[in-house]
Amino acid sequence: MTDYFEVHERDGAARLGELRLAESVPTPALVDDVGADTAGRVHTVLDDAGGRWPSEPDAPEGDDATVTILPHRGLPAGTPDEVAEAFADEYPDVDFPSGAVVSPTTAGDHAADITVLAGAPGYVGHGSAFVDALTTVKDAVPADTALYLPGVATPRNVATLVYAGVDLVDPHKAVVRGTEGRYLTTDEAYFLEDLDELPCACPACQQPRDSFDREDCAAHNVHALAAELARVRRRIRDGRLRDYIEGQARQDNWLTATVRILDQRYGYVEQHTPLLRRAELAATTEDAIRRPEIQRFAQRVTERYVPRFDDRPLVLVPCSARKPYSDSQSHKQYHDAIQWRAHVVSMTSPIGVVPQELELTYPAQHYDSVVTGNWSANEIEFVSRVLEAYLEDADYPEIIAHVPGEGYRDICERVADSLGREFTYTVRDHPTTADSLGNLAAELEGWDTYQKSTREHNTIRAIADYQFGAGAGDELFPDIGTQGRYPQLRADDADGEQLAALAQQYGVLSLTTAGARRWVESDVPSKTVEIEPFVPHGSVLAPGIVDASDDIRVGDEVVVRGDAAFGVGRAEMHGAEMQSSTRGIAVQMRHTEEL
Ligand SMILES: [Zn+2]
Repeated sequence: MTDYFEVHERDGAARLGELRLAESVPTPALVDDVGADTAGRVHTVLDDAGGRWPSEPDAPEGDDATVTILPHRGLPAGTPDEVAEAFADEYPDVDFPSGAVVSPTTAGDHAADITVLAGAPGYVGHGSAFVDALTTVKDAVPADTALYLPGVATPRNVATLVYAGVDLVDPHKAVVRGTEGRYLTTDEAYFLEDLDELPCACPACQQPRDSFDREDCAAHNVHALAAELARVRRRIRDGRLRDYIEGQARQDNWLTATVRILDQRYGYVEQHTPLLRRAELAATTEDAIRRPEIQRFAQRVTERYVPRFDDRPLVLVPCSARKPYSDSQSHKQYHDAIQWRAHVVSMTSPIGVVPQELELTYPAQHYDSVVTGNWSANEIEFVSRVLEAYLEDADYPEIIAHVPGEGYRDICERVADSLGREFTYTVRDHPTTADSLGNLAAELEGWDTYQKSTREHNTIRAIADYQFGAGAGDELFPDIGTQGRYPQLRADDADGEQLAALAQQYGVLSLTTAGARRWVESDVPSKTVEIEPFVPHGSVLAPGIVDASDDIRVGDEVVVRGDAAFGVGRAEMHGAEMQSSTRGIAVQMRHTEEL
């Protein structure tokens, strides 16, 4: 039971939370022992009841102003697993804020508010060792305990530590490095004597260079760490920590390695990554291709999406800077030539391919990439792979590549070759020249246009597949009518009862309770939150949850059901977090029916 820590906002594995002590501490935070003499913005809220080895100290008496680190044995990093397990500490269930010291082998539910990773300095500095230790501990402890890594934070690494899922750090390393004469910044660890000018404007640095000594250097280091942590909190709040990390991690090779290794641990990062964000996704580095949001989109397009327009030609077009694509000048010109006689799929880096029905979904409508006109080998490889997987499941009678030469044409030729299919190329010079558009229109002569209702119904179905899972479009929306004007569509059943509305901003469907019932009754596994017998108003809190589907992600549409209520809402936690949390908002309800 964690009573004194609560998570409020999430951005991937990073989160904004609160240590609910006598004085609230916003996390991620810089914390230290009570009575510690540290300059800067440090919360002195830790009270270490000490190592229990070799003698047993008295049981600690806690209080609600501090987190008492429960007595523990100090085992050195690198202690063999079987030894560590044999000496695993048993923690009492106490009624004051407490912390349990664990190793990756002894991590578990110790009923503590914070989890302290012993031997953290042994992991930090090595990408794979750090990611192994961190993900093992995070998977083993309840989601609503704060993770504390003692003695490791610096201004340069703290953003990546938090990105990986760390909630609490201390100023110890920054202080020690300062007294050793190292001046720390977010990008470097300078020898103080090498600096003829101080590259900082913090209070400690407001003095002549001559009088700035190692004590000042330690104070500066703590200021720099606190300032970086404040920046990280802001980034989490904005849903934009990853964009920052892709730059900041470049300052040290092990940090870059850590970010890449985390991307390879797709299961860990995907679980923590929300399905949608308000913030734009800035794809400015090659690492953007490996972002979990990008990998998830490609996976859903190739595994869940069903081409419903493959009785007509496919027209592949380049993406546009403006989103959604159909609002752009170039796509309006393509549309004038195509006139709904073909299915349109946009090719783009770093997203892959975007079928026209999914242009509103996250992140297809929410990314901005750097346009140089040249594609890297990685981009060509990635988009080729996604396009090929997409075409393998489709049955288009003709594939028209209305794409410019650079990159796009290479991809099309590579995929055509690999699939043994002919592509028709319609662009001369540029896709929007009169010649090119004329070629495109001529190529489609003889095909008739899709009806508006077919387009709208298939858009609802495609988004349902993408959002709810393979088969959802046909299972939930076989016989629908649509109202409104794209993109503001609503889907009704044959009797005119509303099932869902398309939320234009994120390209997701918001279900009504009638829509939710169809999901529950269908063969498509529903994402369900089982609650105690009460009727939720506004939101469902974690303690009221009996069980939740593992595959729920933040932002997911979820069915909420219990003996007293049936409803539908949007998940604020992922499924495993709902199962193990004892605090916090789990679901924002949209519709609730009392049973
Ligand atoms: Zn400074």
